[in-house]
Amino acid sequence: MCSVNKGIPLTSDFANGDVSFWYRQIGLPARRPSLPGPRDYDVAIVGGGYTGLWTAYYLKQADPGLRVAILEKEFAGYGASGRNGGWLSAEFAGSRRRHAKARGRQAMIDLQHAMFRSVDEVIAVAQAEGIDADIHKGGLLHVATNPAQRRRLRAGVAELRSWGYGEDDMRLLDRDEQHERLQVAGALEASYSPHGARIQPAKLAVGLARVVAGMGVDIFEDTTVTAILPREGTRKATAVTPRGAVLAEYVIRATEGFTAGLAGQHRQWLPMNSSMIVTEPLPAEVWKHIGWQGNELLEDNAHAYVYAQRTADDRIAIGGRGVPYRFGSRTDRRGATQRQTVALLWRMLVKLFPAAADVRVRHAWCGVLGVPRDWCSTVHLDHASGLGWAGGYVGSGVTTTNLAGRTLRDLVLRRDTPLTGLPWVGRQVRQWEPEPLRWTGVQLIYALYRAADRRENEHGTRTSAYAHLADLISGR
Ligand SMILES: Cc1cc2nc3c(=O)[nH]c(=O)nc-3n(C[C@H](O)[C@H](O)[C@H](O)COP(=O)(O)OP(=O)(O)OC[C@H]3O[C@@H](n4cnc5c(N)ncnc54)[C@H](O)[C@@H]3O)c2cc1C
Repeated sequence: MCSVNKGIPLTSDFANGDVSFWYRQIGLPARRPSLPGPRDYDVAIVGGGYTGLWTAYYLKQADPGLRVAILEKEFAGYGASGRNGGWLSAEFAGSRRRHAKARGRQAMIDLQHAMFRSVDEVIAVAQAEGIDADIHKGGLLHVATNPAQRRRLRAGVAELRSWGYGEDDMRLLDRDEQHERLQVAGALEASYSPHGARIQPAKLAVGLARVVAGMGVDIFEDTTVTAILPREGTRKATAVTPRGAVLAEYVIRATEGFTAGLAGQHRQWLPMNSSMIVTEPLPAEVWKHIGWQGNELLEDNAHAYVYAQRTADDRIAIGGRGVPYRFGSRTDRRGATQRQTVALLWRMLVKLFPAAADVRVRHAWCGVLGVPRDWCSTVHLDHASGLGWAGGYVGSGVTTTNLAGRTLRDLVLRRDTPLTGLPWVGRQVRQWEPEPLRWTGVQLIYALYRAADRRENEHGTRTSAYAHLADLISGR
């Protein structure tokens, strides 16, 4: 039966929130015990998403004797790691030029190559550890649907040539290959990169948590850290919780989009919202119109872009910014998103795939990702204070978290490796502005990006001046 909400076809059991559809598929995991009282560890990790889990995984693998704990306020995989678009891609957040300015052009190229390898590393570990996360490495398609987008697409591919992308890493598709892969309405041109895999995000998070727990990492759930304190005198670095303090040689902050909730971190990384909808499985005759037999990851080339995947059970999951930011760096409640965002994403879905107009929407949700003031990711460890962190992935965290985990391992173990020399290591980033400037700025930036998209859709052959203005204000 089909119930219709403002013209959007919804399944009768449509749900909004409940963390994400990915958990509806597999069921929410049983909760692990919370912290029983004060404890002492070698490494305490705050946050049980991919960053925390990968860090614990690689630390334990390198030194099984290390005493490692993860302190998680809900359950491992509750945050963006259990809600994302399932894009395991080599995209790295932030301006290449900014990274190159700090450490040289070759360092940025090395970082990009490390990202290529990280995609395969995640796939290899999942396979080796028996984590079935519906992984399919079908590559990544960017599609331009107006002349301005096409111009940007071509310029982008040309630009990437000088940043370590060879012809095999990213190329423009000729019309035949584009059509063979995917029928996107109004597509003018597309680029393809093999460095991308579709995953079911919650399966990866839950699987990793299981593996890490099996390696002897203590995962304490329903345990909220309220503050993280540096080493002081003889007192070790400390994660403060209402259930007692956890002292450790190193405390690693792995809270990404939730970081603003920690004492003293309110203006550190802005919790940017991203929302998704997923359809019911599409019938075979609709897939005949759409193609997408290769299960490539898909993104349009708009400023307020959408990202999509074909799921292992033949649904389309599509996401985009929606309402970008909640005043005061608030976060959502268990993933419920706004009605207008569901409508917006559905319109985008039908615009790209008119053949899916009658397919019903099964689930909608949202989550937060962390955005640093300069929009560039960071991994850091300070031996003096015993504090470390990784995040600010700006929506490209599924793969980057793996690189972060291996880098934090090397930093904690004081290993000087190619990873610790990459340009995102040890960056200091200024804070976001106080409210209401922060809220006003983000609203303005996304209003401008949307205005730019409208103009480009109507008649632009070049990137709209609105988008340039938005870039300028955002400080990307
Ligand atoms: C809707 C959506 C779609 C996305 N799509 C993609 C995509 O397709 N590809 C991609 O590369 N990236 C994507 N991202 C971004 C990506 O999911 C994140 O960058 C990545 O998952 C971050 O992992 P993390 O472990 O750092 O943070 P999270 O997964 O958010 O984990 C942080 C954890 O910390 C816990 N926590 C928070 N505060 C505290 C506290 N005070 N005490 C204890 N625990 C705490 C939270 O409960 C949470 O479990 C998306 C994000 C969203 C929201």
